[in-house]
Amino acid sequence: MAKASLLKNLNEHIMIKKNLQNLYLFKNFPSSLFSLFFIPIKSRVFLITLFLAAQFSLVAGLKAAKYEYPVKFVRITSLFGESRGTHFHSGIDFAGQQAVFPIADGRLLLAIDRKSDPRYKPMGPGNTVILEHEEGFRSYYYHLQGASLLSANGSSADNANGSPADRVEKDKAIAFMGSSGYSIGEHLHLEVEDLQRNLVMNPFFILPDYDDAVKPQIVSFLFKIRDRVYRIKKNSKFRYRGPIELYSVVWDFSNKTDAKNGRTKGVKRLTLSIDSKTFQVYDFSLLQKSEEGLAVSGQSAKAGNQEFYYFKKVYGLPFNFRLGEFIPSKTKHSFEIEVLDWRGNKSSYTFKVNFL
Ligand SMILES: [Zn+2]
Repeated sequence: MAKASLLKNLNEHIMIKKNLQNLYLFKNFPSSLFSLFFIPIKSRVFLITLFLAAQFSLVAGLKAAKYEYPVKFVRITSLFGESRGTHFHSGIDFAGQQAVFPIADGRLLLAIDRKSDPRYKPMGPGNTVILEHEEGFRSYYYHLQGASLLSANGSSADNANGSPADRVEKDKAIAFMGSSGYSIGEHLHLEVEDLQRNLVMNPFFILPDYDDAVKPQIVSFLFKIRDRVYRIKKNSKFRYRGPIELYSVVWDFSNKTDAKNGRTKGVKRLTLSIDSKTFQVYDFSLLQKSEEGLAVSGQSAKAGNQEFYYFKKVYGLPFNFRLGEFIPSKTKHSFEIEVLDWRGNKSSYTFKVNFL
């Protein structure tokens, strides 16, 4: 899908969410932002504000509603938007050996035990349950234990041709966690799709809040010049004024134990400003679906408006963020990185580099 259609999709997204605002906005949204909705839409920069505001107002309303965690003992090991080497991690991973519940009441679309699937490949999502809920949301449960599928509901273990009328209720387990498909160790991968808007939603939008008392960490900032990578310190000098590829290593921990064990997690939003101007933003609120794969939303200095970026643009060196190409002038430039995690904890780091 071309960029133009992604933008068209985004605009449709805004239109739909605008209708939902009436439901949620009055109760949940700060009045300063509320007033923005009465300004005529002129600039695309404004559209971004509207887009994000509409999402948050939607979420505020949905959170109070009916979505729950798919497990009773919640320990999250991976977040939405993380790098998986060649693609974005498009869901949330839960650890444990426990029963899996629907995140809301809904309808069973598919429960598949891959052993009986002639197209079975050892890689991939493994044994899967797919449910459909109100608002056009679908939830996906991957890596399940084959024999356990829907057993708690009394349905058959292999329900690939199951009746579309099958109802599921959120307090009745649909399966047991497993390690089928591409998985090391038992875990559940939960994914939430918004069918109408053709996007994969960060499940945190509709799940209850998750504890995270630890700020995200800005580990390093890197210049890549041709084949060499330089780690940049707070006040440094650089005798070079050609094109530089910018990278930053950034991650988050949910708690001290995870930090001690180095269990890094993804962040919600990353912003790089150069000389106080926005240079690159990545926002992992959602991943837009297209024929070329999933794309994260963001903003760049060049475009100055909402953009979508595919995996290869966002992640360069393993686990780093690729922040674009910069050509310095003969001056002292200041760089500021700001990172936000899913609980709103924020870290920022400013440093100056003198280009000689
Ligand atoms: Zn996963």
